[in-house]
Amino acid sequence: AGVPAAAPAPPPARHLFSDPAEVEALRGNLLAWYDRCKRDLPWRALAATEPDADRRGYAVWVSEIMLQQTQVATVIDYYKRWMQKWPTLQALAEASLEEVNELWAGLGYYSRGKRLQEAARKVVSELAGRMPRTAEDLQKLLPGVGRYTAGAIASISYGQATGVVDGNVIRVLCRLRCIGADSSSPAVIDRLWDTANVLVDSSRPGDFNQALMELGATVCVPKAPLCGECPVKQHCQAWRRKLFGKPPPVPDVEDCGVGDCPLCPPATEPWDSSLGVTNFPRKAAKKPPRAMRTATCVLERRGCHGAPEYLIVQRPSSGLLAGLWEFPSLPLAQDLQEKKEREELADHLQAWMGRPVAAKGLQFIGEVIHIFSHIHQTYVVYSLHLDGDVTLGPALSPSRWVTEDEFHASAVSTAMKKV
Ligand code: SF4
Repeated sequence: AGVPAAAPAPPPARHLFSDPAEVEALRGNLLAWYDRCKRDLPWRALAATEPDADRRGYAVWVSEIMLQQTQVATVIDYYKRWMQKWPTLQALAEASLEEVNELWAGLGYYSRGKRLQEAARKVVSELAGRMPRTAEDLQKLLPGVGRYTAGAIASISYGQATGVVDGNVIRVLCRLRCIGADSSSPAVIDRLWDTANVLVDSSRPGDFNQALMELGATVCVPKAPLCGECPVKQHCQAWRRKLFGKPPPVPDVEDCGVGDCPLCPPATEPWDSSLGVTNFPRKAAKKPPRAMRTATCVLERRGCHGAPEYLIVQRPSSGLLAGLWEFPSLPLAQDLQEKKEREELADHLQAWMGRPVAAKGLQFIGEVIHIFSHIHQTYVVYSLHLDGDVTLGPALSPSRWVTEDEFHASAVSTAMKKV
């Protein structure tokens, strides 16, 4: 009795930035490099030149949502088209979901566009069109805006000195500070947010955050980082460790002077000198994607001008590819025989058209594989030509006939374009 509980020990110094002089030097080196080498990107131009604060916040917000899980090079054209069509929150709030999905088609993770529009409507109707100005309010008030996006908008558009942590920042910080524990664990993520908030430059927070992400995207890349060109290598523990090799043969967990350090690589997977700086970051093994099979049928008829037309139907308004259009499709159980797959598809089509469809009449075209983030999807593709007038039966979802050009201009996923 009477023994006070020990306060949790602070993380070992090698995993922190505790020297203000070092932090100052790192900021200076990183920002000087950014000023010299940053990529010229349309959202950066808008963030730097747009005088209206709400428009500026909106412009950064759109770019951040588009950039989630998507390469910069892919996003640029989509971004330009989007901002041309909907330059303000008000314009976006008035768009239809169909228009949003059409513009988003091909960019992937389709719920992002829909959520962005819903949030824009909320800003217009509930916040009088005024963007929240701090990371805390952005995260609290805007649906679909998480901690990272809120920090990015607040620092880049409004100059709030708040850090950000995304995949690039995780990699850079784990290397700078030799953090080898699972980088998706809450303990490590919390530590990285603290570090990002310590490092952020209060006079240029938006540039600092973009510089850190830019470094991860162009220099401190996952597989073959360009350490020789890195503007912060003198602050990088992983680089130092690679240069000076493994210290005397002591267990790795004792490298930072603390047994069982929660931030070092686990004792079972110590530093591997053949990996060099790419020892960091470490991730727990990912779950393998789920396999799915879907039968899909390209129904074709002669349109009134003689050109072929194809039937597309709309997916439900929630779930995977919500609200997008596709050829009539039916998820299949795994390991069905081909004959059975064909029969199930024929029954499904019969319900659409309200007339018998013979399984034998379906022509097998081939299989298309498409990887969604967590699903390994195989489309088993059939086609069926229809003669005469086709009246669709009591359809379960909206459907329409489109020419090939109309198909490509519709809100259809990349997977359906492959089909
Ligand atoms: Fe990344 Fe290498 Fe720079 Fe360290 S020195 S931050 S590992 S690029």
